[in-house]
Amino acid sequence: METLVLKPDENSIALAGNLLRNGEVVAIPTETVYGLAANAFDGKAVAKIFQAKGRPMDNPLIVHISDISQVYDLVCEFPEKAQKLARQFWAGAITMIMPCSDKIPEEVTAGLDTVAIRFPSHEIARKIIDSAGVPLAAPSANLSGSPSPTSAVHVYNDLHGKIPLIIDGGESTVGVESTVLSVVGDVPTLLRPGGITVEQIESVIGKIRIDKGVLNQIDNNAVVSSPGMKYKHYSPKANIIIVKCDGDEYTDYINTLPEKKNIGALCYDEDRDKLTVPCVSLGEKDDFQTQAHHLFDALRQLDLMNLHTVYARCPKKEGVGLAVYNRLIRSAGFEVIDLEKS
Ligand code: AMP
Ligand code: MG
Repeated sequence: METLVLKPDENSIALAGNLLRNGEVVAIPTETVYGLAANAFDGKAVAKIFQAKGRPMDNPLIVHISDISQVYDLVCEFPEKAQKLARQFWAGAITMIMPCSDKIPEEVTAGLDTVAIRFPSHEIARKIIDSAGVPLAAPSANLSGSPSPTSAVHVYNDLHGKIPLIIDGGESTVGVESTVLSVVGDVPTLLRPGGITVEQIESVIGKIRIDKGVLNQIDNNAVVSSPGMKYKHYSPKANIIIVKCDGDEYTDYINTLPEKKNIGALCYDEDRDKLTVPCVSLGEKDDFQTQAHHLFDALRQLDLMNLHTVYARCPKKEGVGLAVYNRLIRSAGFEVIDLEKS
């Protein structure tokens, strides 16, 4: 199949809407990462997403809307706390898990009795949803397991030949996937950190629970609150190792490694001039938003450098830094060298 890549305009958005209404998949830009979308009410169309990505069928998708009124078709209950969060943070980078209506095919929910819903702020994403005339189920538009796509080129590299259309809306500004919060039950639970931070959520609805899968490795056989937690994610070709430390120990550690062939670094701007190995920077040390924006592109750049091992700075777990940490620790398969302890 030929894959068209088109800039967003009236014609390309109408074409995307047509394809989606006719049961096809289309890659669309959003503010978090690019999504691979299909009509959320059409199980056969949604199945094509899993096929193109090679995504395990038991990992449910997020349904994207372009108007709050669409929520009522998707849920059987819109909890009070979810409504408060929606008023504050939608349109934006937070997905809420709610009890689902019986209109949603099981391909979307993976057979769960809940559904994940997000209202993206990206103007083109919203226009495409409007043009399709239905909510769109969409996971990230990458091959399952590889770093999520934050540009049309990333999508093309992973999925060309497998999907008919990519709408190129430029770089995703946030750069990491949405925050996923379950609002089912008494205390809302964070299942995935993202663009909207824990601090922001708690300022609206009070204390939330952080699921243990956010920071810790999940056993393959464990029962998880969010199926996505148990899969290998965000993996570049090189081995990533996280280095935990505060100051110059990071650059000293790398520069004094006995063997530096095919070694690289995923560092901060401040480290670049000190390092004697090839490196890619995420941004300044305390600029978590820039780090999030660069993360997936940096992982893809490292892929092109033919490295065997990449030593990555351990991100701080504050604000959007928690999302960067959550993605990077997974791309490293939870392998950490703790220089603070040695
Ligand atoms: P992606 O679309 O690739 O960003 O992945 C969506 C994430 O949301 C995955 O980690 C899913 O496991 C999670 N998710 C989607 N629907 C649900 C649900 N009903 N309950 C729990 N987690 C969900
Ligand atoms: Mg994904």
